[in-house]
Amino acid sequence: MSVSLANLGFPRIGDNRELKKALENFWQRKISESELNVVAYKIKLNNWFLQKELGINYIPSNDFTFYDHVLDMAILLGAIPKKFLVIENPLDRYFAMARGFQNSDKNIDLVALEMTKWFDTNYHYIVPELDEFQTFKLNATKIMHDFLDAKSLGINTRPVIIGPFSFLLLAKFSDSKIEKSTLTLLDNIVPIYEELFSALTQIGVDWIQIDEPCLSCDLDYTKLQYFEKAYHKLTAIISRPKIMLTTYFSSVEVHFDLFAKINLDGIHLDLIRAEEQLELALTKIPTNVILSLGIIDGRNIWKGNLNHAYSILTYVITKRNSQNIILAPSCSLLHSPINLNYEEKLDLKIKKWLSFAVQKLEELSLLKNVFLTKNLDLLKENVEILANRNNSSLNSQIISLEEQTKIKDNFFNRNSPHEVREKIQKEKLKLPDYPTTTIGSFPQTEQVRKARANWRNGNLSSENYNHFMQQEIQKCLNKQEEIGLDVLVHGEFERNDMVEFFAENLNGFAFTTNGWVQSFGSRCVKPPIIYGDVSRKSALTVEWTTYAQSLTHKPLKGMLTGPVTILQWSFCREDQPKSETCFQIALALREEILELEKLGIKIIQVDEPAIREGLPLQSKDWPNYLSWAVQAFKLATSGVKDETQIHTHMCYSSFGDILPAIIALDADVISIEMSRSQLELFSDFSKISYPNEIGPGVYDIHSPRIPSKEEIVSLLKKAAHIFAKNKIWVNPDCGLKTRSWNEVEPALKNMVSAAKELRCNDS
Ligand code: GLN
Ligand code: ZN
Repeated sequence: MSVSLANLGFPRIGDNRELKKALENFWQRKISESELNVVAYKIKLNNWFLQKELGINYIPSNDFTFYDHVLDMAILLGAIPKKFLVIENPLDRYFAMARGFQNSDKNIDLVALEMTKWFDTNYHYIVPELDEFQTFKLNATKIMHDFLDAKSLGINTRPVIIGPFSFLLLAKFSDSKIEKSTLTLLDNIVPIYEELFSALTQIGVDWIQIDEPCLSCDLDYTKLQYFEKAYHKLTAIISRPKIMLTTYFSSVEVHFDLFAKINLDGIHLDLIRAEEQLELALTKIPTNVILSLGIIDGRNIWKGNLNHAYSILTYVITKRNSQNIILAPSCSLLHSPINLNYEEKLDLKIKKWLSFAVQKLEELSLLKNVFLTKNLDLLKENVEILANRNNSSLNSQIISLEEQTKIKDNFFNRNSPHEVREKIQKEKLKLPDYPTTTIGSFPQTEQVRKARANWRNGNLSSENYNHFMQQEIQKCLNKQEEIGLDVLVHGEFERNDMVEFFAENLNGFAFTTNGWVQSFGSRCVKPPIIYGDVSRKSALTVEWTTYAQSLTHKPLKGMLTGPVTILQWSFCREDQPKSETCFQIALALREEILELEKLGIKIIQVDEPAIREGLPLQSKDWPNYLSWAVQAFKLATSGVKDETQIHTHMCYSSFGDILPAIIALDADVISIEMSRSQLELFSDFSKISYPNEIGPGVYDIHSPRIPSKEEIVSLLKKAAHIFAKNKIWVNPDCGLKTRSWNEVEPALKNMVSAAKELRCNDS
C-alpha cells in the first residue's frame, strides 16, 4: 500500500503575472517570440521545481499554455480552420485564432474563434471550430517539448491533455447548420491520440492525465456509446502511457459501470464537489484501477478540512487494502490564486483561514506525512483553525437575520408588467428607434490605471483623484456625444474589474493584493473573498453616476454589477447556502438602485454576465439554482418606479438553455454578447419570442479589428427578423475597457451610422 500525491494543473500566469505582461508586450511587438518563450520557460521551470519540492509525485506538464489549453489541444490535433492558414508563423496564427487579426495592407481580416466559459467557472476557453468532415493531424511539438524540458531538469512529469470525447463536445462545427453531433468525428480523432500515445511512450512518458470533464454533464446513451468506443480503442493500444482518466466539477457515478468495462489505469474523482460518489466508486471501480482522490478544493480558497480528508483516506484504505492511492486537488489549480505568502495586507485572522495553490499542495503533503508517520497531532493546527473560523464573530449571521425581516413578498416584482413600463419609458426617454449605447466601460488607459494605483498607494490625494476621475468622465462624455450615442455612460474608470470595486464598498468582503486568477488569455481577475454577512457600507456608484448625468442632457445609464455575478466572481463562504449570501448582496444593490433613482438616474444597468456560468452542470440541479438567481436579480432591481428603465447585460456563455430564466428576470432591456456566436443565439431566440427590449452585441470587443458599418447593418437586419424592430437596441457585445480609443472611436462611429441607416430604411 502506498499513498502518492498528484497535481492536475498549476496556475500558468506566473507569480507576478509575468505571462500577462510578456504576452501583451509580444502582441505590441515590444518583445520577440524568443523573449516570450524565455518567460514561458521560466514559469514552467518554477512550477515544476516548486511542485517537486512539495513532494508531488505526479507533476503535470503541458498544463502551461500561452492562451488556453483547449486551443492548444486544437493545435495538437491539427484542427486549424482553413482561413487561419494564411498566417504562416505558427505562434501568430495561434494568437489570431484566439484574438482575431486584421491587416489591411495584406487584405487579411480574421475574426477570432468563439470564446465561452469553462463549465461553471469564470475561466473562458476558445471553442475549436471543425468542418463537417474534419480530418486531424498530430502536432505534438509542444507537449513533447514540455515533457523533455522537465525531464532534462530531472523532473518526470505526467502530461495533461483533454480527452477526445470532451474535446469534441467542447468544439463546434463552423457551419452551424450542421445538425449532427461533433462526436461523429470521433473515428477521425482517435487515431491521432493513438499516434500521440506512441510518440509519448517513445520519449519515456509513463503516465498521462486525460481530462474528460464533460463526463460531469448530462449525457445521453448515444454520447456514452461514443465514449465507450473511443476508450476501448485507446486502452487497447499496447504501447501507451498509463491513463489517468480525470473527471471534476461533479459526480460521475452514473458512469462507473462503463468505466469498469474499459481498461483504465486510474480514475480521478472530485470528492469536494461530489463526495457522495466515493461509496459507489469503491464497489464499482475494479481494484486494479488506481483511485485518485480529489480531496483538496481546487476552486475555493478556504483551508481544507484535513481531518475529514484524512478520514476519507483511511476509509478508502480499509476498503481497498491492496491498492495504491493518489491524493490530489479536486481539479486543476488553474482556478486558484498562486501563493498566500505574498499577501501582506490581509487581515491575519482571515488569512489564517485561507489556502492558495501552493498551500493546497502543502496540505496534500501534510496528509501524506500523517499517513506515513501515523502522527495525528500533525493535523491539530488545521483542526484548531477550522474551529476558530466556524466560531468567529467575523462571519456572524446577525445582519442576515435582520436583513431577512426587511424582505417582503412584494420586493420581487416591478409594479407593472413590461408592456406598460415600456410605453411609459418610451414617452419619458424619447429615444429614437434602434437606440445606441455601450455596455459601460470605456478604454482604461495607462493614465487611468496609474491614477487609480497612485490613489490606492496614497500617492495621490482623494481630492486630486476625484478631480482626475471627473475629467476622465467629462472627456468620455464628450466623446460619446461626438460619436452620437443615444444613451451615455460614465465610463467605469474607477473600476479595476466588475466586482472588486463593489465589494470594497460592501461589508463582509476581504481582498488580496496578488490573488490573481486567469480569466482568459492574458486577462486575470482578483476575486474578493466573502467571509461574512454582506451589506452596503456606503454608496457605491452614486457619486460618479450623478456627476456624469449632470454633464449631459442625454440619459445617462447607471452601471452596477448584479448580485449573482458578484457572488459568482468572488470566493464565497461555505458556511451558509450560496442563495443566502446572494440575497444579502441583492439587498445592498437594491438600496443603491433606489438611491440612484431618487437622484434622477432614469436608466440603470445591472450586469449579470455570470448568471449562466453558475448553472449547475447537471440539469437536475438547475431549477433550484435558477430560481434563487432570478429572485436575487429581481430583489435587487424591482424596487424602482415603472418609468425607470432597468437594463441587464450578459456575455460569453451559451444562453440557449436558460432563456426562460432570462425572460423571468424581467429586465426592460437586455444587451447580450453574440458577435462571436451570432447564429446560435439567433436561432435560440427565434424559438421563443423575447418579450422585452434587446440589444444583440453587434461587434466583438475582444478583437482589435474594427467592424464596418455594412457588417453591423447586416447583423441588425438579421436581428430584425427575430425581434420586433422597435425593441432592438444597438450596442457592442461587451464593455470596452480592454480596447484603445483608436479602436473604439471608429468602431462606435460605424455602429452609430449603422443604426442611422436602419432608421432611414425603416421610415
Ligand atoms: N459593464 C461592464 C463593462 O462594460 C460589463 C462587463 C462584462 O460584461 N464582463 O465593463
Ligand atoms: Zn460582457
